[in-house]
Amino acid sequence: MKIDVEDRVYLKSETLHSLNNINHCFTTKCGGVSCGQVSGLNLGFRCDDDPHNVTGNYRLVAKDIGFPFERITAGRQTHSANIRIITDEDAGMGVSRESEMQDVDGLVTNVPGLPLVVFYADCVPVLLADEKAGVIAAVHSGWRGTVAEISGVAVDIMMQRFSSRPENIKAAIGPSIGKCCFETGEEVANQFDADLVTEKKNGKFFVDLWEANKRILEKKGIVQKNIDVLGLCTVCNSDMLYSYRAHKDATGRMGAFIMLKN
Ligand SMILES: [Zn+2]
Repeated sequence: MKIDVEDRVYLKSETLHSLNNINHCFTTKCGGVSCGQVSGLNLGFRCDDDPHNVTGNYRLVAKDIGFPFERITAGRQTHSANIRIITDEDAGMGVSRESEMQDVDGLVTNVPGLPLVVFYADCVPVLLADEKAGVIAAVHSGWRGTVAEISGVAVDIMMQRFSSRPENIKAAIGPSIGKCCFETGEEVANQFDADLVTEKKNGKFFVDLWEANKRILEKKGIVQKNIDVLGLCTVCNSDMLYSYRAHKDATGRMGAFIMLKN
């Protein structure tokens, strides 16, 4: 579902939206105060953008969706499979204050009122929530993270550390590069199950990262009907979404946010 606030557009998963205790969103590039090549609602501090604009964009998201701005927490993403458990003391790191978190591509917390965010352009954002156990996760799963099954690592931590049960976990796989556009070389394609790869006549390979992530979650016991694939390709929809491929490197970042309500 789509939510418009003035000129800003947010996307929500019906599956996560149906949970009373969870607030979440996937941002788009619409609206926002950034200019130039990252024009719009850029949330990447490491892009070529004025940090004041990026902070201003985070403030807009916080106000629009209902997150406490000063507690929004992000890791320093490096396409790793590292997950960090976020405590109250970490609140605000990476957005309203410096982060000491290096090489962190997934965040898990059971602290209410602490919004987690991962940012991305074409990589796959995965949000996870277990309302019963009171634990959530935000995961940045590019092709490297997908090969390393980072979303599965997040589920393991939810189960082992927070007594989450897979049948109670709901998941949303957000906007990202679809199999229509994720063209790779053979060396990347070979790292995925053969049925996730389409080989075109011209010798090009196309990989389905959405299905790959869905399969990782199902392997952990998450029920198929509880996995919502938004199915929106960033390259095909680059008028409203930032895309590394479509914009040839100079692009902003969107955010996938999730928070347990107080
Ligand atoms: Zn596409």
